[in-house]
Amino acid sequence: MSRIRLRANAKLNLTLDVVGRREDGYHCLRSVMQSVSLADQVTLTKQVSGIALQVDSSQVPTNEDNLAWKAAAIFRERTGIKGGVLIEIEKRIPVSAGLAGGTTDAAAVLIGLNILYGKNLPLSKLQKIGLKIGADLPFCLQGGTVLVEGIGERLTALPPFPDVTLVVAGLKEKVSTTWVYRGLTSDAYGTAFSSNFIRAFKAGKSAEEISGVLGNTLESVTAAFVPGIELWKRRLLDGGAHGALMSGSGPAVFGLFTEEERAREFRKRWELEEKIFLVKPVKAGILEMNGGA
Ligand code: ATP
Repeated sequence: MSRIRLRANAKLNLTLDVVGRREDGYHCLRSVMQSVSLADQVTLTKQVSGIALQVDSSQVPTNEDNLAWKAAAIFRERTGIKGGVLIEIEKRIPVSAGLAGGTTDAAAVLIGLNILYGKNLPLSKLQKIGLKIGADLPFCLQGGTVLVEGIGERLTALPPFPDVTLVVAGLKEKVSTTWVYRGLTSDAYGTAFSSNFIRAFKAGKSAEEISGVLGNTLESVTAAFVPGIELWKRRLLDGGAHGALMSGSGPAVFGLFTEEERAREFRKRWELEEKIFLVKPVKAGILEMNGGA
C-alpha cells in the first residue's frame, strides 16, 4: 500500500475539571471526551524520503509547526523508517476552537504511517509517542466516549453516548489554550463535573438528564473575554437544546438536541452568522476510509 485516506474526528469535552498543577507547569485534568462526526480528511502518500505537507486552509502552518508534520517526524525518528510521506489535509474542523483539530490530524498521521509502513505498533505505543505532541492525542487515537485523566495519558473507556444530535457553533474568535490556562484562578480547581456526569451516565439517565450535568471549568475564563459564548449557549438552549457548553478551552460551543428536526431548524436560523455543524457522537477517533492504494 502506498496511499491511505483517514477521517480524523473532532472531540468535544462533555465535562472538564482542572484538578491540579504539576511542578513542571502541566495541568492535571479530568475530562469526559467524546469523538464526533465532524472530521478533517487526512491523506498520506509514501515518498522516498522527507516530509511534505499540503493543507487547504490558510489558517494552519504547512511546515514543521503543523502537528501532523510533528507526528510524522516523531514516528520516523522512533521507528527508524527511511521512507517519507506527503500529508494532505482537507480542513473542516474549525481552527483554535477547542475541538482538537490539530491533534486529531496528528493522530491520523500516527495511525496512517503505522499502517503504510507495516510497523504494527500497538495503540498503547502510539499513545505514548503521541503524548509528546499534545494532551488530547492519546484520546484522539482511541476515540469514543472516554474519561481522560492526568495530563491526558490515563484513559477509561465509558459506554457509548446516546445517539443524540450535537450542534456545534464554531465561533470566529481564536483562543489560545495557554492563555486560558493562565487565566485560571485557584478557586477553579477541584470542581466535580466529571464525577457527577459519570454517576448520571452510568445510572442510565436519559439524554435530557445527562444534559443537566455537562460542565467545563475553563468556560468562565474564556467567556470573560469572548462574550459570544454566553450568547450562543443561550441561543442553543432557546432553540431546543437540553444542555449547552463550551468545548475545551473554547470558543466552540455545542448544544445537545434529542430532536434532529429542531437541530436543523437551529442551523437554518443561525448559519449566516457563524459556522454551525450538526454532528453525531461516534465510537472511533480515526477511521480508515476506502480508497487506500
Ligand atoms: P485543543 O482543543 O487541542 O486545545 P484547538 O482545537 O483549540 O486544540 P487547533 O485547531 O488544534 O486548536 O489549533 C491550535 C494551534 O495549532 C493553532 O495555532 C494552529 O495554527 C496550530 N496547528 C498546527 N497544526 C495544525 C493542524 N493540523 N490543524 C489545525 N491547527 C494546527
